[in-house]
Amino acid sequence: MTFISQKSVTTRKPHRCHGCLAVIPAKSPSQRETYVGDNGPYTLYWCAHCQDMLPRVDWRDFDDEGITPGELMEYFVELGAYA
Ligand SMILES: [Zn+2]
Repeated sequence: MTFISQKSVTTRKPHRCHGCLAVIPAKSPSQRETYVGDNGPYTLYWCAHCQDMLPRVDWRDFDDEGITPGELMEYFVELGAYA
């Protein structure tokens, strides 16, 4: 997959956070990222909490596919960040 763009947005409708699968309500600050994968372009959203946590991620722990939906939550639990 190829990273295209990243933007801080205020959501206009609810989205599911890619990192922890929590619902990001409408009118919330979110980080929107656009990628192009094998099936064309797609967009994912990070909730405020996951945005805070992203700098702590060691990306070498993930393969080329990146983070699958909800995987960031499991990663943080392992780190003890959600304990
Ligand atoms: Zn999240």
